[in-house]
Amino acid sequence: MAIKNEYLQGVYAGLVQRNPDQKEFLQAVEEVLTSLEPIVERRPDIVKHKVIDRIVEPERTIMFRVTWTDDQGNIQVNRGYRVQFNSAIGPYKGGLRLHPSVNLSIMKFLGFEQVFKNSLTGLPMGGGKGGSDFDPKGKSDGEIMRFCQAFMNELYRHIGPDTDVPAGDIGTGAREIGYLFGQYRKLRNEFTGVLTGKGLSYGGSLARTQATGFGLCYFTDEMLKAAGDSFEGKTVVISGSGNVATYANQKATELGGKVVAMSDSSGYIYDPNGIDYKVIKQIKEVNRARISTYLDFVPTATFTPDCKGIWSVKCDIALPCATQNELDEESANILIANGVKYVAEGANMPCTLEATAAFQAAGIPFGPAKAANAGGVATSGLEMSQNSQRLSWTFEEVDAKLQSIMKNIYASAAAAAQEVDQPGNLVVGANIAGFLKVADAMIWQGDAF
Ligand code: NDP
Repeated sequence: MAIKNEYLQGVYAGLVQRNPDQKEFLQAVEEVLTSLEPIVERRPDIVKHKVIDRIVEPERTIMFRVTWTDDQGNIQVNRGYRVQFNSAIGPYKGGLRLHPSVNLSIMKFLGFEQVFKNSLTGLPMGGGKGGSDFDPKGKSDGEIMRFCQAFMNELYRHIGPDTDVPAGDIGTGAREIGYLFGQYRKLRNEFTGVLTGKGLSYGGSLARTQATGFGLCYFTDEMLKAAGDSFEGKTVVISGSGNVATYANQKATELGGKVVAMSDSSGYIYDPNGIDYKVIKQIKEVNRARISTYLDFVPTATFTPDCKGIWSVKCDIALPCATQNELDEESANILIANGVKYVAEGANMPCTLEATAAFQAAGIPFGPAKAANAGGVATSGLEMSQNSQRLSWTFEEVDAKLQSIMKNIYASAAAAAQEVDQPGNLVVGANIAGFLKVADAMIWQGDAF
C-alpha cells in the first residue's frame, strides 16, 4: 500500500476489513489518503477529531427496489441507490448513474470523490451519488419513463432542494432528468429545484449541458498555460462519446486543438481530419446509435472494435471521458511512448492508480477528475442558485462563471501542492484543497461529540 502514515494506514485497514469487496471505493480512498499524509502530520486536530475515520463513511446509504413494467407487459426489478456521503458544507449533490455495472462499491467511490470535488468548486454543496443497475440501452422511451417514475417513487422521500439535489451521470441525460423531475413534482405537489440538468423550459440552466466538457478544457488550458503552452495545433484523443466527451470535443476544437479519436463501449473511431462534435451529437443524442455509424457521415474515417485501443492513437493531449479504470498502466505507457504531453480526466477515476503514477513519473502534467471535471457540478450549483432566485442567466454569464471557477480550482490545487512541497502535483493539491474545507466544517460543527 502507498499509505505510509500510521493513523491513515489504520483507517484504511479498517475500511478494507469492513468493505473487502468494494474495490473501486477502496481505490478512491487510497488515493485521497495517500495525498493527505502531509496534512495529517501538520494538523493534529484532524487526528484528534477522527476526521478521516468519519469522512470515509457515508452519512447515509439508501438501497431500494425499483419495479417497473416493460413494453411486453413483463415486470422488471432493478436495484436503486442513493449514497448521501457528506453534508458538512451543503446539501448532498451528485449525479444518478444508470448502467448495468452499478453496484454499492461504484456508488460509494463516486460519492466519496464528489465530496472533495464539490468542495473544490467553492460552492456550498455536500457530496452524494446514486443510480441503478438498470440498462437504458435498447429501451423504448416508454420503458425509460416508467423506470424513472418507479425510481423516483422511492427516491422522492430522501431528496429535496435543501437536502439532496441529484443530477445526471452515465445513462442519465436530459430525457431521464425530465421524467424524474416530472414524477417528483407530481408526488410532492411542488415545483422546486430538486434536480439539476433540467430542461430550459422548466428551470434548467443554459450551459449546464456543455459544462463538464467545457470545464475540462478550461482546466486543461490552465495546465497548458502553466507550461507556457496552448491547445493551438495540438492533437487530442477523447474517449467516450457521451455528454462529457462531446462537449470536450467542441471546446478543445474551439481552442485550436484537433480531436482525432473518440469511442464508445464498442470501439473507437479515428479521423485524422478532426472529428466534428456536431456529428457525434447527431449520432448519440438524436439517433442514439453506435459510434461506428460515424463512418456513414465520414467514410474516410476508420472504426476499430476495441475501445481500449484508443490509447494507441498518437496525441499531444489525452482526455479520458468514458468511465472508471478505462486507462491502465499499459495504456499509459503506450501514450507516454507516443509522446503524450498532457492528460486530464473528464470521467471519474478513468486512470488506474498505476496509470496516474506512470504519467507523473514521466513528468507529464496530470489533471485529476475531482478538479478537472468539476465544471459539471459547479454549473449544477449555478442552476440551484438561479432556481432559488427564480431567475435565468444568459449562456455567456454562466460560461463566464464556469471559466472563473475552473481557473480558481486550478489555482487552489496548484497552491495546495506547492504548500506541501510537491509543486505541480495536482492530484495531491486537489485532494488537500478539497479536503481541508470539509474537514474544518466537520470539526467546527462538532459532529464527533
Ligand atoms: P454518458 O452516458 O453521456 O456517456 C458515457 C460514454 O462513455 C458513452 O460513450 C459510453 O459508451 C462510454 N462508456 C461507458 N462505459 C464504457 C466502457 N467500459 N468503455 C468504453 N466506453 C464506455 O455519460 P457522461 O458523459 O455523462 O459521463 C462520462 C464520465 O464522466 C463518467 O465517469 C461520469 O461519472 C463523469 N462525469 C460526468 C459529468 C456530467 O456532467 N455528465 C460530471 C462529472 C463527471 P456506450 O454508450 O457504448 O456505453
